[in-house]
Amino acid sequence: MLPWFVRRTRLPLLSLRCVDCRSESATTGDGRFRVNANGKLLDVWLLVRCVSCDRTSKLTVHERAPVSSLDPVTLHGYHVNDPVLVAATLVDPALARRGRFTLDWTGAWRLDTPPATTGAWATLAE
Ligand SMILES: [Zn+2]
Repeated sequence: MLPWFVRRTRLPLLSLRCVDCRSESATTGDGRFRVNANGKLLDVWLLVRCVSCDRTSKLTVHERAPVSSLDPVTLHGYHVNDPVLVAATLVDPALARRGRFTLDWTGAWRLDTPPATTGAWATLAE
């Protein structure tokens, strides 16, 4: 369980240049992964769409990862396009670094930290 809640109004957009129309904004839309199995190795991509011309791009989440290296729950999440996993993947700085995009958070999320967890964090810090 995470000690905080993300109130999502929408997912952030990606500042990512489209190779077709040169627009610099892309969206995950409803959030879709593509999983490609090659023997015991998996490629996983997060699909994003240009907001201007609808061109789909693939952002590499895992490249030739051994199936056994992936948490089964996470792997299932990729197959069912789990919205929580889409969000977690999108905000992973490693994905942004590999995909050379930045996130446009304007009006996208609000983070709520319940007061009850403050004590727990304070205890951990001591
Ligand atoms: Zn485009």
